[in-house]
Amino acid sequence: MKAVIVGAGMGGLSAAIALKQIGVDVEVYEQVTENKPVGAAISVWSNGVKCLNHLGLEKEVAALGGIVDTMSYVDAHTGDTLCRFSMQPLIDEVGQRPYPVARAELQLMLMNAYGIDDIHFGKKMVSVTDGPDHATVEFADGTTATADLVIGADGAKSLTREYVLGGPVTRRYAGYVNFNGLVPIDPAIGPATEWTTYVGDHRRVSVMPVAGDRFYFFFDVPMPEGEPFERGTAGAVLAEEFADWAPGVQKLIAALDPSTTNRVEILDLDPFHTWVKGRVAVLGDAAHNTTPDIGQGGCSAMEDAVALQFAVQDHPDDVHAALAAYAAARTERAGELVLRARKRCDVTHGKDPEKTAAWYAELQGEDGTNILRGIVGNILGGPLTS
Ligand SMILES: Cc1cc2nc3c(=O)[nH]c(=O)nc-3n(C[C@H](O)[C@H](O)[C@H](O)COP(=O)(O)OP(=O)(O)OC[C@H]3O[C@@H](n4cnc5c(N)ncnc54)[C@H](O)[C@@H]3O)c2cc1C
Repeated sequence: MKAVIVGAGMGGLSAAIALKQIGVDVEVYEQVTENKPVGAAISVWSNGVKCLNHLGLEKEVAALGGIVDTMSYVDAHTGDTLCRFSMQPLIDEVGQRPYPVARAELQLMLMNAYGIDDIHFGKKMVSVTDGPDHATVEFADGTTATADLVIGADGAKSLTREYVLGGPVTRRYAGYVNFNGLVPIDPAIGPATEWTTYVGDHRRVSVMPVAGDRFYFFFDVPMPEGEPFERGTAGAVLAEEFADWAPGVQKLIAALDPSTTNRVEILDLDPFHTWVKGRVAVLGDAAHNTTPDIGQGGCSAMEDAVALQFAVQDHPDDVHAALAAYAAARTERAGELVLRARKRCDVTHGKDPEKTAAWYAELQGEDGTNILRGIVGNILGGPLTS
C-alpha cells in the first residue's frame, strides 16, 4: 500500500511514522520550505505522549518535555494562590506523565523520526482527486503524486477537507486572542516544576516548564476578531492590557521577547463526521479544529495517527475498509474533545459572567480532585487510553 500525506505538521508526521512502522510506502508533502512552526510550545497530555511512545519516541519526547509536578491557580490581582495540588494522582490514574514541549523541537523530533530528508518541502497542494484505483494530488508547481490513499493533514484551513466535504466550511471565532512564547524559568513568575495559571477578568495568564529551563507562557485576551496588531509590539500591548495584574505577571511581561511572541486569533469548527471520500481522508486539525482550552488538538491528531495505523493494519488490502474503520474509530472521540474545549473556553473567557465568577469561587480551596477529574476525562477515550 502506498500513502501520500499532505502536511508535515504534528498530525501528518505522526501519521507518516505510524504508517511507515507497518510497512506502508509513505510520501510526505509540505508547502513550507523549512521547519518553522507557528506557536511556541504545546502541552502534550498523557494520551498524546502514549501515542508518541507507541511511535517509538518515548526517550525523545521525555528529553524535550518539561516536568510538571504541581498545578496552581493564582488570583490575577492579588497574586494569592487560590489552589495548588499535585499532578501525581493524574499520572497514577492514566499511567503516563504529560509533557509540555517546545513546538519547534517537537516538529524536529517528528521530522527526524520519519526522515527529514525524505520530506518533500516546498510542495503546495492545489487539488486532490480520487479514482477507482488511486488518488492523485496536484501541486502548485504542476507536479503530481499518486497513491492508494491520500491523507490530508493540511491543518485548520484544509483544502483536503473541502474536497471530502464537497465545499468550504466557515470556522468560528472563539472570542479571544492568545499570545504565546518562551522565557527563561523565573521563580518570581512561577515555580519551576509547576503549571501556574493566573486568572481574573475573564482572562488567563499561564506558564509551564519545557526542557532547557524555559517556561512556555501564554496570555488569553478576549477581544473582537480582526483587531490590528503589529508583530513586535506584544510587550507593549500586554503591559497595557494587564497593567493591574500581579507582580508575577509583570515579571513575565518584562521577560518576554516581543519579537518572538506570537499572537493567534482562536477559532474552531463544529464537529463533522464525514472524514473520508473514496481514497482520501482528513487527519488532525483538518478533521477537528479545536480551541486550545484543554490542550488536546495536537494530542487528538496523534491519536488519529495511531488509529489510522490500527485501521490499515486490520485491513491491509482494502483502502476503503481501512479508511472507514479509521473514521469510525475517531469522529466521535475527536468531536467530543472539540466540544469539551469549547465549553472550557466559554467558562474561562466569561461567555456567561456568572459561570466564570462561580468557577473563580470554586478554585479557592480546590484540592485538585475536580480539576484532575476533568483532565483525566479528556485524556481517556483514545486508541491507547480507552
Ligand atoms: C495557541 C494554541 C495553543 C495550542 N496548544 C495546544 C496544546 O497545548 N496541546 C495540544 O495538543 N494542541 C494544542 N494546540 C493545537 C495544535 O497546535 C494543533 O491541533 C496541531 O498543530 C494540529 O496539527 P496538524 O498537523 O493537524 O496541523 P498543523 O500543525 O497546522 O500542520 C498542517 C501542515 O500542513 C501544511 N499545509 C497546509 N496546507 C497545505 C497544502 N495545501 N499543501 C501542502 N502543505 C500544506 C502546513 O504548512 C502545515 O505544516 C494549540 C493550538 C493553538 C492555536
